[in-house]
Amino acid sequence: MEKIGFIGLGIMGKPMSKNLLKAGYKLVVYDINQLAVEELVGAGAEKGHSPADVASRTDVIITMLPDSPEVREVVTGKEGVIYGIRPGSVFIDMSSIAPLTTIELSKKLAEKGVSMLDAPVSGGEPKAIDGTLSIMAGGPETAFERVKDILGAMGKSVRLVGGIGSGNIAKLANQIIVALNIAAIGEAMTLATKAGVDPEKVYEAIRGGLAGSTALDAKMPLILNGNFKPGFRIELHIKDLNNALKTAEELGVPALLSEKVLEIMKVLRDEGKGKDDHGGIIQYYEKLAGIEVRKR
Ligand code: NAD
Repeated sequence: MEKIGFIGLGIMGKPMSKNLLKAGYKLVVYDINQLAVEELVGAGAEKGHSPADVASRTDVIITMLPDSPEVREVVTGKEGVIYGIRPGSVFIDMSSIAPLTTIELSKKLAEKGVSMLDAPVSGGEPKAIDGTLSIMAGGPETAFERVKDILGAMGKSVRLVGGIGSGNIAKLANQIIVALNIAAIGEAMTLATKAGVDPEKVYEAIRGGLAGSTALDAKMPLILNGNFKPGFRIELHIKDLNNALKTAEELGVPALLSEKVLEIMKVLRDEGKGKDDHGGIIQYYEKLAGIEVRKR
């Protein structure tokens, strides 16, 4: 069995790495947050002392970090992965980052004889805990086949979408659909509530029809309880929509709906709600409508 390095033990990385331990893999872990590292060591992982140290002791290295700058720092920065990784290893970045950064890093790793996959995920913390994430990968087929079982220990749907960077393109598509869906839920449910109708009854009435969605079923129960604890932080979704808009601009594709929702998210961030779950987008509508969409 391949020995795995796991760097980035946050909301997602922690349960994902625990699922790898449960599946029987040996793990070396690293994070700048020592508490997270200690928790994984308590669960059976070995402690890594730097990204380079993790890479020098493992065959497959996974990162689950916030954004492009952190992934670049962990791979190419001081004591970065690139200074420890052995030829023939596979590097998998499971963070959601800009596709161009993915391609840039894959070239640097190729010079070291290392194959890279980008394999961002969808499903959030609950599916990370259950090991039922959707994983959308990009990169060489040989590398994908080699690590498919490892990815399968963290996800239920594991798909190779195309060449390097394709995973993050798929993830941008995913994030546009999720952002617009959650904003639509906010707009619709605020309207229903202000009209005097019980939002929980509206939810129950529409969830089986065409308006039903995984986003509606995941977020509506939390909205009804006013629970905006992350989950997936609004500030991370701002990062994804910025990457989507940049990519749309480069490709000459209109992205006006994403632009609108991004503005809503930025208003919430400026009001101090950037660390709320993205289900909290509804608070923008609630504030302007002067009403809260809650259980009665
Ligand atoms: P998080 O902020 O909870 O976790 C990131 C972890 O990286 C933290 O533990 C942090 O200490 C660590 N870190 C940051 N910089 C580091 C560095 N230089 N060296 C080592 N460790 C470092 O974020 P998250 O919610 O787990 O998200 C991770 C990625 O997954 C993001 O790209 C996000 O967009 C994506 N994602 C998140 C969710 C979700 O629901 N939270 C869902 C799908 C995808």
